[in-house]
Amino acid sequence: MAISQKNPMTPIEYLRQGCECPWEVAVEPFKVAPQVYYVGNSWVGAYLIDSGEGLILIDATMHNQVYLVLESIRKLGFDPQDIKLLLLSHAHYDHCGGVRPIIEYTGAKLYMGKEDAYFLTERPDLIYTEGYAFGSFQPDYYYDDVTAISLGNISIHTMHTPGHTPGTTSFFFAVQDKSGNTYRCGLHGGIGLNTLTDELMQESGWPLSMREEFLNSLEKLSGMEIDITLGSHPAQVNMLEKVEKISETCNPFLDRAVWTTLLQQRILAIKELIMASNLSGC
Ligand SMILES: [Zn+2]
Repeated sequence: MAISQKNPMTPIEYLRQGCECPWEVAVEPFKVAPQVYYVGNSWVGAYLIDSGEGLILIDATMHNQVYLVLESIRKLGFDPQDIKLLLLSHAHYDHCGGVRPIIEYTGAKLYMGKEDAYFLTERPDLIYTEGYAFGSFQPDYYYDDVTAISLGNISIHTMHTPGHTPGTTSFFFAVQDKSGNTYRCGLHGGIGLNTLTDELMQESGWPLSMREEFLNSLEKLSGMEIDITLGSHPAQVNMLEKVEKISETCNPFLDRAVWTTLLQQRILAIKELIMASNLSGC
């Protein structure tokens, strides 16, 4: 069940609601692409990839929402204990709050962006929201963007895309249907500009070059041909609105325009933010 959109809440209110009443952000899991399933909630995405030789989970949702992820995986007919790899898009608590219980329960190996590791040790204030802590964890590996992360018949290529956080990482991989058709999936690890405002940049102490890095990587990625776009938050690409169009003959997520449109929108938004900024220097 999704939260009513009649009186839209602010993101902070939504996050609090998701922590205190996780059942209110629950959604039924669904298939997004061959081998790929949505197991996130109405606020934040999480994706299960069936490699044929074990499961890969992208993002862990919040600490209090882990039971929803596990329930979704079981509803799809998989065993959560078959999760071999857990990949984080970035270390904000709505994506990584559930890491500790998931890796404890499954034994999965954890990957994350090296540049986000300092959040866990030096600046937890930047990833927690007031009053909502979660279990500590250590990554097994950092992304290197050179070696694909492989399991079974899935090879995930990572790309460091700093901006939303210093270590935000994006994922690209191909999947095949039973007829042998191949589809290229893409997930941008973090497109929110909320951490790049003047106020937040001053609070985090990040260099202003972070905005330029974000813009540059968006421009680089916007030309990629992506058949199926996975939102790190479902609302980024209206995923939950498309669910009811799923049928035997229709995959509403198969739409090459979505990736380019999403990234072009963000390019315009970050350019506007830079233009309106009162900060100067580097
Ligand atoms: Zn975030």
